[in-house]
Amino acid sequence: MENHEELYEQYLKLKQEFSTYQNFAEKQIQIMSEKNTELEKKLDVLANVVEVSKYINSNISDDNLIPMINDMIIGILGVTYSTIYLRESDGDLIVKACNVEVPNYNIIENKIFSLLGSEEPIVINSREPMFNEFKNKLNIHSVIGVPITLRDKFRGYIVVEHTLFDFFGHGHIKFISAIANQIGIAIENNILYKKIKENSIKDPLLPINNRKHFFDIIEEKVAKYPKKSFAIVMVDIDLFKSFNDSYGHQFGDKVLIETARVLSKNIDQEKDEIARYGGEEIVIYIDDASSHDKVFKIVDDIRRKLSNNVVKYGGIEKSVTASFGISYYPENGDTVQKVLNVSDSMLYKAKKSGRNKVVSA
Ligand code: GH3
Ligand code: MG
Ligand code: MG
Repeated sequence: MENHEELYEQYLKLKQEFSTYQNFAEKQIQIMSEKNTELEKKLDVLANVVEVSKYINSNISDDNLIPMINDMIIGILGVTYSTIYLRESDGDLIVKACNVEVPNYNIIENKIFSLLGSEEPIVINSREPMFNEFKNKLNIHSVIGVPITLRDKFRGYIVVEHTLFDFFGHGHIKFISAIANQIGIAIENNILYKKIKENSIKDPLLPINNRKHFFDIIEEKVAKYPKKSFAIVMVDIDLFKSFNDSYGHQFGDKVLIETARVLSKNIDQEKDEIARYGGEEIVIYIDDASSHDKVFKIVDDIRRKLSNNVVKYGGIEKSVTASFGISYYPENGDTVQKVLNVSDSMLYKAKKSGRNKVVSA
């Protein structure tokens, strides 16, 4: 009998222990599952940031990059409105992308920025609808704004808005901040990309393209429209060596820059092309070659304008002249190089016959 009671007591004790363990295990499972959901959410945010980042890095040269990022923010966060403001080089903040068109957007800008105040991330919740002075905007009850910075310098803001009160949480701010970081990097990459691209097509001294880019452009035109005629003009400054010797290389550089400017200013800005061919030689493509007389007149006019252009430097005032050789595609050659060779020999003729002249093939 005694034995039976003892056994029963042991049974109760075990049962109690078992239920304690069971409770503990269940609690642990719940904690684990919550942690799992949290981790999954974080992974989701991370995956989205990685996606946006991948997109940004493969489209750094695309002018639509900022509007595309804005669309991604709307798609991923499900916000009502998203706006990306960027600071222009003159310091003004302008709307680079927004999914709602509001007339007098400056007013919105001012209002948002007076709310944002500083260049810090901010969350605004309002029971009263915000920005309801704009007819085509829905009633907004929560806003977050996150600054875009580039090497610690303020460059703009991402502002997202929602119709629901208290819609945004910590995760949203984290996500937008990650995107803001990516935008900062994208802006920097875009600036570098443009600089590199410009360096590869522009002459380092003169405000015109380099020879390689000139050839690229004209050869592309010839490949596209092999029957279209055009003129090539070779220009070489007269007695420039002695000019450098008399007034110094720096004044020579200034004259060269001015010469390029006078020539560029007097060609068709839309259709013609100009580039530095070498030292003080400049090459021009004239698109409309239907009348050789007209081309000659245009070039002779440029020659006259150049000879009348006075360059001032360090108290000295001087002008230079140049000689010009004109040839035509396709009459003088079936490739750009062949046509160019003919304008070169026309230029030689101009030099031989006294300089400050135009000679046409
Ligand atoms: P010509 O009338 O026969 O052309 O006489 P020229 O003295 O101009 O002869 P040429 O065209 O052969 O001389 C080119 C000179 O241009 C040589 C060089 O001193 C000068 N030059 C070339 N590139 C530059 C430059 O970037 N800056 C300066 N200052 N001078 C240059
Ligand atoms: Mg010369
Ligand atoms: Mg020369």
